[in-house]
Amino acid sequence: MINQNYLKLSESYLFSEIARKVKAYKQENPEADIISLGIGDVTQPLAPAVIEALHKATDEMAQSATFRGYGPERGYDFLREAIVQNDFRACGIDIEADEVFVSDGAKSDTGNFQELLSADCVVAVTDPVYPVYIDANTMAGRRIIKLPCTPENGFVPELPTEHVDVIYLCYPNNPTGTTLTREQLKKWVDYALANDALIFYDAAYEAYIASEDVPHSIYEIPGAKQCAVEFHSYSKTAGFTGIRCGYTVVPKALKVNLNPLWNRRQSTKFNGTSYLSQRAAEAIYTPEGKAQIKATIAYYMENARLMREALTNMGFKVYGGKDAPYLWVSTPNDMSSWEFFDWMLHSAHVVCTPGAGFGPSGEGFVRLTAFGTHVNTEKALCRIANKL
Ligand SMILES: *Cc1c(COP(=O)(O)O)cnc(C)c1O
Repeated sequence: MINQNYLKLSESYLFSEIARKVKAYKQENPEADIISLGIGDVTQPLAPAVIEALHKATDEMAQSATFRGYGPERGYDFLREAIVQNDFRACGIDIEADEVFVSDGAKSDTGNFQELLSADCVVAVTDPVYPVYIDANTMAGRRIIKLPCTPENGFVPELPTEHVDVIYLCYPNNPTGTTLTREQLKKWVDYALANDALIFYDAAYEAYIASEDVPHSIYEIPGAKQCAVEFHSYSKTAGFTGIRCGYTVVPKALKVNLNPLWNRRQSTKFNGTSYLSQRAAEAIYTPEGKAQIKATIAYYMENARLMREALTNMGFKVYGGKDAPYLWVSTPNDMSSWEFFDWMLHSAHVVCTPGAGFGPSGEGFVRLTAFGTHVNTEKALCRIANKL
């Protein structure tokens, strides 16, 4: 007997369907030079400070005196102390090292954390959404409510009209690239406190925030330590998509004390992030590491600025891209997401991601990413302009 909930999962066809269409087009048009503005992965190499730390950690592994085997279950102290100091205390947020759990990235933790909750919990997600939240809760058999994020509400979800127990918020948002201000996020913290709900806050794109009024952590909002778990990732911050490292904050002040439960869960099912990855992550908190990472993010955000400007000049309605490496673009002439995808591929030889793949409210939009090179981004924009 299998877990019947797995049969309720919708076919995850978005990226395979994109790959299939691109491959078919390439076969028919082998000379076409196709540029992807749909890449959901970073492309720039790791920072020199990170590479140096990786080499050093590798050399330590070669000597019996400095070799490391299994690490501490919540992560090494050197990394958890660096996190607490740089990501929280430096911003006036009081988080303790034993509230931080180092992980192999935010996908596992945003997917796994729901295991601590009853199957009867009602879950709210924004729509469009990062599919992991929906799929993980579908596997667990929970009821899921979608909160539409559209131009009409400025991509700010409205509070649910029925009681929900869990709310997933991801800001800056993937896929829309939009943000919540402190004021807007406070409404959700107040809702969670008043309704005994738990917020799962995915801060994977926190490092891309430029606007002053956009919070880098939900713990900037008073009361959030009683109602929110926060997920961080070094994937987009520092190009760790292949290295693998992130962390989750589980405050001891939560109304229900989930910190020991998460420790129990992790020590049972997870044996830690590699020593090399944790030394690599530590290196991004050094002065050199910080500067190098900032430069790479600025490189991507220059692409985003260029894309926003060029597409707006072409007459597109463009959202996001100011505090996130994603742009959410309305399709022209009432085209569907997939119709516009086909047009972009066939006419401009540019690949985008159809918004409908992220949920019903994504219909009529495509997602463009700033993770390409400057040269390719400029070339892609020129081609789109010439084909309009
Ligand atoms: C990329 C991404 C993550 C990070 O995943 P990792 O497992 O840390 O690589 C988390 N959440 C969202 C919304 C993302 O887009």
